[in-house]
Amino acid sequence: MTAARRILIAGNWKMNGLHEDGVALVKAIAGNLQHNVEIPFDMLICPPYTLIGAVVAAASGTPLKIGAQDCHTAGQGAHTGDISASMLADAGCSSIIVGHSERRADHGETDDLIKIKAEAVHSAGLIAIICIGETDIERDAGETLNVVKNQIAGSIPNSATAVNTVVAYEPVWAIGTGRTPTSDEVQDIQAFIRSEMARKLGLHVANGVRLLYGGSMNPSNAGELLALADVDGGLIGGASLNPEDFWTICENCH
Ligand code: PEP
Repeated sequence: MTAARRILIAGNWKMNGLHEDGVALVKAIAGNLQHNVEIPFDMLICPPYTLIGAVVAAASGTPLKIGAQDCHTAGQGAHTGDISASMLADAGCSSIIVGHSERRADHGETDDLIKIKAEAVHSAGLIAIICIGETDIERDAGETLNVVKNQIAGSIPNSATAVNTVVAYEPVWAIGTGRTPTSDEVQDIQAFIRSEMARKLGLHVANGVRLLYGGSMNPSNAGELLALADVDGGLIGGASLNPEDFWTICENCH
């Protein structure tokens, strides 16, 4: 982490939560924050679509921001079952995750599609959290840097700035498994991502853009991961469903 970039701790609830427990969970998370008192980092929760309205209301008046886990490429129209970025902005979201590995795997999302989704997020005035990361087969084949390089080239649009874009490096094999790369590996890959961002978008964007690490971040490893020079926060799945664990991760940012 560096003082120049504001840390972001983002929780991805994935497809978890009915109304009652979702509202209770966000209230428990927001309960650590005082109303109208700024915190020295950004805190974001991305619930399922069905909970966004209730969670926005429950977090109102606190610095906790709310985001979404995906969006359609179009602003509106004949796309049954889909949700646009502008609808999510209207619902109170500040950010949208695009290109999560579970969407790449479950829905065949390609870098090309993810790039267009990120552009749609930017057009709606929101922050795109663009996920990249290698599978275990790619890692074992020594392909990690090639994979992230291609994902950066293919899925980050030219509309990306340090303000409207966050890149989350999430090794697929680390998501929900309790396994993580070593801190040295994470730092090396994050630094490589920043240098590829500089090649694509220039040094100014690369130096300002926030790079998150995601994949089994928890209260025990967050301190070490968040202290790395090119880790500007975390994208957290499982541990964001436990308010104590999520807050303990956040406490590393004070
Ligand atoms: C994720 O799904 O983005 C994630 C990082 O999950 P977990 O923290 O559970 O590994």
